[in-house]
Amino acid sequence: MSFAFRASARTLAKAAPTASPIRQLTASIQKRTMHVQSIPMWTGSHDNYAYVVIDEKTKDAMVVDPANPPEVLPVLKELVDSGKINFKGIINTHHHRDHAGGNAELLGQYPGIPVIGGKDCDKVTTTPKHNETFPIGEGIQVRAIHTPCHTQDSICFYMEDGAERVVFTGDTLFIAGCGRFFEGTAEEMHEALSRLSKLPKETKVYPGHEYTKSNIKFGRSVIDTVWMQKLEKFCDENAETQGKFTIEDELRHNVFMKVEEPEIKQVTGKTDKIEVMQTLRDMKNSFKG
Ligand SMILES: [Zn+2]
Repeated sequence: MSFAFRASARTLAKAAPTASPIRQLTASIQKRTMHVQSIPMWTGSHDNYAYVVIDEKTKDAMVVDPANPPEVLPVLKELVDSGKINFKGIINTHHHRDHAGGNAELLGQYPGIPVIGGKDCDKVTTTPKHNETFPIGEGIQVRAIHTPCHTQDSICFYMEDGAERVVFTGDTLFIAGCGRFFEGTAEEMHEALSRLSKLPKETKVYPGHEYTKSNIKFGRSVIDTVWMQKLEKFCDENAETQGKFTIEDELRHNVFMKVEEPEIKQVTGKTDKIEVMQTLRDMKNSFKG
């Protein structure tokens, strides 16, 4: 079997320079079919994001964390009524009201749609297992990454099509920060961020809140690098940072993903990575930027 595979791979490689249909096929497989539309939910004191993820080929779409219906429903309604999307479901990153609190009202408008999320989310119909996958339309493959800590039901959703890779991280990973350990431990947050750090480096990060400006202020108070200075400059010039940074960027400018680095150990006065994580979180909780 493996010999046959090697032989056919050799044949393909030999044939490739003259076999343009193969190259055309590869190009069409890699073509982007995923579109992410952000819905900032910024009325009052809120700073959350909902996201509509659309498979452009079939127009099938799901909405991530549509917590505030007065801001989400008009956008959804316009997309559905104009035929731009087929609304196929709600995805929740965790059960907190500022993420899953809009489910009942959306179901009132769109009865019977599935609610995919952690076990404690309001009206949840499906909780995927760790690493379980499901599609959106024909082009997008979604993988659930369990990241218990901020809440025990926290799930990050990694999505890819031919060429595009994104991850919706709720309140687990923020740009340059991480969520509070409300229902978990420093060890669990370290494991959660380790899981995310193993995603393809070019994966774009879409967090649940716009906290980047204060996160980078805290980060620079811990260690100051050119990567952090670059991010702060970006925040000075842009109100929104979601989808603008990758997992590779997070490994550079997010102190919570650098708990094994000597400089951070020195600042926290700890040597064990879990104790470094806990100390960083305590420092952030009392940080007055
Ligand atoms: Zn939360």
